[in-house]
Amino acid sequence: MKVKPVKIVATVGPATHTTEMILELAKVGVDVFRINYSHATQEEAIERTKWIREAEKALDRPLTIMGDLPGPKIRISDMEHNTNLEKGQTFVVSKHITIGNKEGCGLNHPSIIDILEVGAEVFIDDGTIKLVITHKDKDTATAEVLVGGHLKPKKGFSAEGISLSTAGVSEKDKAWIQATIENKADALAISFVQDASDVLEVKKLFPKDSKVMLIAKIETANGVANAESILDVADGLMVARGDLGLAVPIAKVPHIQKQLIDLCVKRAKPVITATQMLESMISKPIPTRAEVTDVSNAILDRTDAVMLSAETAEGKFPVETVQMMVKIIDEAVKHLPPYDYQEEGTIPNAISDSVGKIASRIDAKLVIAFTQSGITARRISRHRHHQPVIALSPDANIIRNLNFVWGVHPYLIPYTKDFDHMLDAAKEMAKSNRILCLEKDDNYVISAGMPFGQSGTTNMILVEKV
Ligand code: PGA
Ligand code: MN
Repeated sequence: MKVKPVKIVATVGPATHTTEMILELAKVGVDVFRINYSHATQEEAIERTKWIREAEKALDRPLTIMGDLPGPKIRISDMEHNTNLEKGQTFVVSKHITIGNKEGCGLNHPSIIDILEVGAEVFIDDGTIKLVITHKDKDTATAEVLVGGHLKPKKGFSAEGISLSTAGVSEKDKAWIQATIENKADALAISFVQDASDVLEVKKLFPKDSKVMLIAKIETANGVANAESILDVADGLMVARGDLGLAVPIAKVPHIQKQLIDLCVKRAKPVITATQMLESMISKPIPTRAEVTDVSNAILDRTDAVMLSAETAEGKFPVETVQMMVKIIDEAVKHLPPYDYQEEGTIPNAISDSVGKIASRIDAKLVIAFTQSGITARRISRHRHHQPVIALSPDANIIRNLNFVWGVHPYLIPYTKDFDHMLDAAKEMAKSNRILCLEKDDNYVISAGMPFGQSGTTNMILVEKV
């Protein structure tokens, strides 16, 4: 696998629901597999988990599994194959339809039909299809199609002013949280987070010592407004541009993206930029120039990870899309300068800031970070120095969590007892690893926190030569 600092999250779906495809995607550069619970059955989630773990073993490289909790998203019903809507036709949204067709569809929350008003504009599938409500009856809303197209099952349904109450976690979501725990997924993205309490409600349903990362998806106006306090309790954010583009004026999306990425980088928590990154590759082997530019710009904004949704879930070219992502990353990072962010003057901050600076001044080829909780590696990564960071931890959960983090390549090692033990492990790792094997006279920088086994104690820098 090509070593790249920016991480790739790929959504598994019908196009990639085989053990061979998952292995292939991992080989070409996927770090995190997303299982979107809105579109998967529990059985499919179990199968995919099994295949991802097999690929992890086959490649001897950590692979991370992220579930994605639907949250209060309004979606259309299942649809017959190849349903196409034409501009000007009539289309009915009804409480009585479970499988839709060209005539009409149902909703996952039928009561939403009660609050649809005549004149309201409705967007389906992130705005791909547009309707206007022309007539209301007790159980139906009749609409005229303003923008037609292919109507796929269970796509998002939104209209200005309609939203589901977020009071508590739904029973469906609770079942998925249970499945996340049982399947031993590594992370859970939470949709439509409005404030910190939405994350805490989910957190409560995990065991106290759970290491499952909770990634808050920012895709509502309240989510944007409360991003800082949400990040106090979440382990990272997703800039969920699909729904966000419907919830706020769409022209604000690029600027909210920059603001959210900067917030996460400063806090040393990972951020994923998501949705429509290489959208045209769903059906074409080459992306648009605008898409390539968008991915590059997200990297220049310093995102940790870029995400593929329908491109890998249901596209014609999943492997080619990931390969394209890797090419764009390779070019973009050449133009990404280190981030000279001066955080609060604590010992861990000063040490982690200095690691990259020292590495650059002596042209070190690698940084080796011993990290109990992952925080040492995340703090070093925050400065976006170009030397790969090999993160060593005895905790398999932490290893997979670090797969989200810019420039960090995690390895599981036995528990480090003392300084000599650490130095031996670092020397061995410098010469033999899957990232970059050093040769005679190459410099590398080691960072750790002592005493070992205690997290958040980053206090040591050591420069070594092979
Ligand atoms: P979704 O979230 O794919 O689950 O809708 C991402 C987004 O809204 O951008
Ligand atoms: Mn969304």
